[in-house]
Amino acid sequence: MPATDARKKLILVVIDGLTPSMLETTLEGRTAPALSLLAEHGRYGRAVSTFPSLTPVCLSSLATGAHPDVHEIPHLVWYHRDERRLVEYGSSFGAVRAAGTRRSLIDTIYGLNASHLGRRAVTVYEALEDAGLTAAAVNITCYRGRHAHAPTVPFLTRPAYGPSRFFFYNLFRSDVTGAPLSVRSRPRGTIDAYAAAVGRWLVTRDGFDFLVFYLSDYDYASHAQGPDAAHATLARCDEAVGTLIAAAGGPDEFLERYAVVLCADHGQTAVREVAQLGEAFPDAIVTASNRAGMVYASGDAGELAARLDGNPAVDVVLRREGEEAVARRDGAELRFTPSGTSGDASILDHPEGRGRAWAALANPNAGELIVSAAAGWEFADLAGRHHAGGGSHGSLLTGDSEVPMLTVGLERQPGSIVDVMPAVLDHFGVAAPEYARAPARA
Ligand SMILES: [Zn+2]
Repeated sequence: MPATDARKKLILVVIDGLTPSMLETTLEGRTAPALSLLAEHGRYGRAVSTFPSLTPVCLSSLATGAHPDVHEIPHLVWYHRDERRLVEYGSSFGAVRAAGTRRSLIDTIYGLNASHLGRRAVTVYEALEDAGLTAAAVNITCYRGRHAHAPTVPFLTRPAYGPSRFFFYNLFRSDVTGAPLSVRSRPRGTIDAYAAAVGRWLVTRDGFDFLVFYLSDYDYASHAQGPDAAHATLARCDEAVGTLIAAAGGPDEFLERYAVVLCADHGQTAVREVAQLGEAFPDAIVTASNRAGMVYASGDAGELAARLDGNPAVDVVLRREGEEAVARRDGAELRFTPSGTSGDASILDHPEGRGRAWAALANPNAGELIVSAAAGWEFADLAGRHHAGGGSHGSLLTGDSEVPMLTVGLERQPGSIVDVMPAVLDHFGVAAPEYARAPARA
């Protein structure tokens, strides 16, 4: 087991949408020198994501150590009951910038952090900087912190509150780094090139105790090409991590100075067919996207759930009934609470299935129904967009829900993305919030 050194600074690398199998194959082939270096000096395992396994939900879980019952981000697209409107973040900032409306830009940039992220949730940046450490975040869309950063572009007028070192797609920057423009060409990887340039600047100056280095281009490529096919993009991710290693002076100097966690936010699975979830609910508000959907409706939730019996696009339909949660598949039901179950347990035999389903339903922003898609299916979003022929994620199924978890110099090996934040705090000797679970020291 590698020695732990709590004095080391720590870098969290998040490669969006990277599946365990893709990383494992790449490490076996030794085609990614930077990732292989980390694997040789670290520990590797598969870990579980949250549900819905969609980017804004998952990045919020990584940053807060909580499932949606605490961080309250329910989906990519959801219905805001108080404001009586849809919130749509887009699957990534790049996607919003490319296709989104001004409203979804504002929701993604400000709303998620400034108003939607639960008040009870504590971000890793808040916890570390309150303890006197310096946190840095590059491009991650869950960034809430205590330092105001003025926008660099005229179409944004308000400051964003992030960690003291904060870099967000050229729109906010705490320091002038000379990094190139991030949005020139998404397919050519200019967003991650921007992240790499900022990362080089930060490592060269030793400018943080904790850095979140978020690489979003892999998920974008994998949606288009299908899971485990975006080899060229993963090679660029490897180069971006290699940039950090080189900036430290080489492998020995890098490993001397930094502990590392490298993981994904969720997996991806192949999509062959597309369904319109809204067709079953003309009397409700449906927010569907990728491989999960929410149904916001008054009326009997059991009757609403039964409408999806026999629908080939649907794996499981979740709802609350009083103090219990109910999971339904083709008429069969499992009733459960955090402490017990009755009914057909095989309905939720997914990774951490009952726990993740419970937490998703306990989010005050969730719909009356939460729908998890069947293998190979995707729900078209509000604009009719989908990824048929490519990859997607969002469901409870293993392929969407498993992530690679590679750690170097960390005492706790996270078994879930919600374990990362408390493991980071533990590394620095900072107490985790009460809601965060304490993973076993193994
Ligand atoms: Zn993602």
